[in-house]
Order: sequence, then C-alpha cells, then structure tokens
Amino acid sequence: MDAITADRLRGVAVGAAVGDALGMPLEFGLASHPDHFIKKMRPGRLPAGSFTDDTEMALALAECLLTNATLDTDDLARRFLDWYNSGPLDIGIHTSAVMEKLAAGKNWQTASQEAQMPNPDNAGNGSVMRCWPVALACCWDERAILSNYSRLQSSVTHVHEECLAGCDFINQMIVSLVKGAGIQEAYRQALENTSLPEGLRQSILLAPRRKRDELRNTGWVRHTVESALWGLMNTNSFEEALIQVINLGADADTAGSVTGALAGAYYGLAAVPAEWVSALQGEWPLNSGNIWRSADFIALADKLAVSRNPDARQ
Ligand SMILES: [Mg+2]
Repeated sequence: MDAITADRLRGVAVGAAVGDALGMPLEFGLASHPDHFIKKMRPGRLPAGSFTDDTEMALALAECLLTNATLDTDDLARRFLDWYNSGPLDIGIHTSAVMEKLAAGKNWQTASQEAQMPNPDNAGNGSVMRCWPVALACCWDERAILSNYSRLQSSVTHVHEECLAGCDFINQMIVSLVKGAGIQEAYRQALENTSLPEGLRQSILLAPRRKRDELRNTGWVRHTVESALWGLMNTNSFEEALIQVINLGADADTAGSVTGALAGAYYGLAAVPAEWVSALQGEWPLNSGNIWRSADFIALADKLAVSRNPDARQ
C-alpha cells in the first residue's frame, strides 16, 4: 500500500469522527447563516471535540470486524447491546427500539424486523452513520463483498431497503475514493455498483445540484446522503465540505460524520485541519475511562485495512 492510499484510509476514520464531533453542538439546531458559520470544535452536551453515538456504533462495528474473519452479525448485535447497556448519551429512536428487543432476549433478526413494523416506511440514518469501518475492512475485497457486508451491518438494526442501499452506496464511494478515483468518478461508480430504490436514487441524482436552503438534513437516510454528497461535490477541501454540512443544523453530527468519511477518503488525513484532529476525543468503551483520540483512529484504520487482506500491507 502506498503512502497516499494509507493516508486516505486514515482520513476515513479520523474524518468521520471529526465530522461527528464538529456537528455535535449543532445537532437539533437551525441552519446557520453563512455569516455565522461555526468553524471550530465547540462544546455542546459534551465537551468540545467529543464524538457521539455515530462514532461509538462505528467503533463497535470496527471491533467486530477485527475480531471475526467474516462479518458475524450475532457478535455485532451483542456489541451494540453492550454499548446500549452502558448508557450512551445519544441514541436514535429506532436503534433504541431495536436494543430494547435485544435486551429482552430476542435475536437481531426478530428485533430489527419488529422495530420496523409500526412504521414500515421509516428509513433512518442510524446505520449509514456507522457503516464506514466496512469500507476500510473490505477495501481490497470484491465489490460484491463490500456490498453484502455494508447491507448486512445495516440489517442488524435498520432493515429498510433505503437504509441498506444507503450504506452500500456510501461505502462504494469511499472505496473508489480511497483507490484514487476523482469525486465525480467515484459518484458514477457508486451509482453503477449499487442497487438503489427509486426514491433514494432520485435524491442521490439531485444532491449535487441542490441549493443550500433546499436541504432539510433530518434523520432520514435520504437527507443525510443528500447533504453529504452536496457538501462533498460543491466544495474544494475537507474543511469547506465539513463547514458547509454541519452548519445545516438538524442532524448535523450524522451528516458531518458521513461527509467526513467521504471527504477524508478523497482528501486524506493530511487535509484534515490539525486543530480539529487534536481536539478529537471520546470515551470508548463507555464507562471504561479509556479516552480515544486521533492516534487511536489512525491505528484502527491501519488495522482494518489489512484485517481481511494482509497482503495489502506491502
Ligand atoms: Mg450522534
């Protein structure tokens, strides 16, 4: 693996966590006026630089991928339940419903399906926000494996077809970017490689041409994917993409996290502003007293990138 590729892989992990932490104080807020954009790590419900549930669930998925030769969904469900039982500050409504059913002893297949039943059209962003570790682990695999794992990790909590396809699309794009594709090229490849339900496909096709005030940035997977693509495709740096997207408010941390993973894959770790990287922090596992910082995300990216394909080390 050359140094540029390694830097891009690290950029995905650090970028996603940095985007989550930047968006954290803006979550549930209104969109900021361009004259008043937040450009620094600010405290919110957590100290400045803290990542949230988006990154915590991604770390559970990453550790599952590092522990097992294949994606073991029963192990993943157990890891999500351990996290839930440790009392996270942030958790999505749908994820929480699934976790309650897991806690009651149901398997993930039943828990996930039953949580969907009351609102069959509900397609939240709770799985796309955490899907990036699959892109790192499966970077050198066939695209079909990348697709399969991206969708499978979603199905443990989010079974709606738009959730599965959203994870697949974002990870297809991350892998293309890591391997050196331009942004337009990666977008085209992901459109070709992903089977997309029509509604999500239309959102993805329109995203690059959206106007800022058209973006709702809610917890709907369509809105998150749309905001992230819009941010990536209408700016010229990691910093600018993230500032544009987190200042949309609403589900700012999740949109920030997905944007950070994509922008990190394209621009690489070296392009992530140093003051954002140095501010990054968060306890993992929760209640362990162990604080994760950027160096831990770099080490994680390095491990994931060779976890399934040790030959990639050269
Ligand atoms: Mg969050």
